[in-house]
Amino acid sequence: MIYLDNNATTKPAPEVFNAMRVALDASFGNPSSATSLGSEAKKLVDEARRSLAGLIGAASTSEIVFTSCGTESDNWAIVGTLEATGKNHVVTTTVEHDAIRKLCQNLEKTGVRVSWIEVDEEGALDLDTLRSELCDDTAVVSIMLANNETGILFPIDEIGEIVRANSNALFHVDGVNAVGKIPIDLKKSNVDLFSLSAHKFHGPKGIGALYVRDGVEIAPMFTGGGQERGMRPGTEAVHQIAGIGAAAEFVRDLTPMKTVAALRDRFETAILQCIPNAYLTGTAVPAKRLPNTSNICFENTNGEMILHRLNELEIYVSTGSACNAHGRTASAVLQAMNVPYSRAMGAVRFSLGRFDQVSDVERVIEVLPPIVDDLRSISNS
Ligand code: PLP
Repeated sequence: MIYLDNNATTKPAPEVFNAMRVALDASFGNPSSATSLGSEAKKLVDEARRSLAGLIGAASTSEIVFTSCGTESDNWAIVGTLEATGKNHVVTTTVEHDAIRKLCQNLEKTGVRVSWIEVDEEGALDLDTLRSELCDDTAVVSIMLANNETGILFPIDEIGEIVRANSNALFHVDGVNAVGKIPIDLKKSNVDLFSLSAHKFHGPKGIGALYVRDGVEIAPMFTGGGQERGMRPGTEAVHQIAGIGAAAEFVRDLTPMKTVAALRDRFETAILQCIPNAYLTGTAVPAKRLPNTSNICFENTNGEMILHRLNELEIYVSTGSACNAHGRTASAVLQAMNVPYSRAMGAVRFSLGRFDQVSDVERVIEVLPPIVDDLRSISNS
């Protein structure tokens, strides 16, 4: 099996299994119980919170609130801010993950005003328009750090400064596809809210977190007991939390991402060289992209058919966001970047990870050109 779909999800690290097993077995207590079994479980939760805070450079562990996934964190950041501030305007981009994009489309139907900031063909955000859209009624600016489909990075430091200098709005960053791949240091930033999800960095599915900067107020996610400082109550999923903590420790060292970047570059160069009419989506500047992602459009072919051919060889890739893998239209992100239809329909996302080997990449470089060739000749005949 060759797994080049790490932006969809990642294989849990062995350390994650071990941490989760302990939480489900020897330390199965309720963290709120006054017993020593409860204290043991609470210790696991506290440790995981510390690990996660360390990974993203939070100033304090109190800034980490556990949620069930990135989608929950994203939804809560926006809705919780609108509710807490009583304001009615959101600024976001046209290339966000569906967790933000569809939420904002739904909010528009309820009367919330949303400003959609556009990107150019390279994937760069129009920062002048962003600045001019900010107003007294802006509750939150929500912008992703790394695009899940293209790997393009947005300059959140610069955006944070613009938001601070021109408004009282909160700044939310969807960091779901960036954590564990690039350095993140929130205490040095102007980010107020930051979403993340364990299964994107070798942790389990079903656990994420929202970073809420100390002093920032958003409406609670649920009403209930006092867990998670009353902001997201419900008995803590200790095994999941232990899993995200172990995953945070596992990806803390970013050195392996240099190897991933070298593999990705080798793969990308070879594919663009040996397959005619293959185009990299967005900027080619390495510093403006995640180190692991190549989104390549094979003009006049169908990305989904490429995916199926590779799948038959147990090579796993994606045509874009996993959530719309069965969609028949070109990806909304590629449409927003004005990628021509004949290219966008042939888009394939290759997202490498820490467990990929040189031999994996070499094999794909070998099998992909004849597949694209064959599919093109079928569609021309
Ligand atoms: N945001 C981004 C950028 C993502 O890539 C994803 C998942 O693909 C999500 C949000 C949603 O995360 P989750 O799958 O944990 O709900």
